[in-house]
Amino acid sequence: MTTARLSSILFPQYNTLWREAQQKVISWRLGLAEVLEPFLWAAPKKKTSHSKKRMRSANKGLKDKTNIVNCPSCGHRRLTHHLCIYCYKDYLYKRKMQRRNDLGQ
Ligand SMILES: [Zn+2]
Repeated sequence: MTTARLSSILFPQYNTLWREAQQKVISWRLGLAEVLEPFLWAAPKKKTSHSKKRMRSANKGLKDKTNIVNCPSCGHRRLTHHLCIYCYKDYLYKRKMQRRNDLGQ
């Protein structure tokens, strides 16, 4: 005999209380779904046209860069406050050659 049956035999009022509680929970869930329905299943009513999409994204275009300078050591263009990739590659190559020389000796 399970505890639910035993409790319903010993305390029959608990059975009805339990059913009432279940009904309340079910009705509460349905009420919540009805309240949240417009947010849960929000979908646009019409397709956004190509024109509207382009008009919305017209001000999201690429901006001109004003922070480009010439590298003082090699003369290539680079962004300000950034490492010059040509100088960095040159540094890496020199370091690699230095390590090879060190290992060879
Ligand atoms: Zn450079």
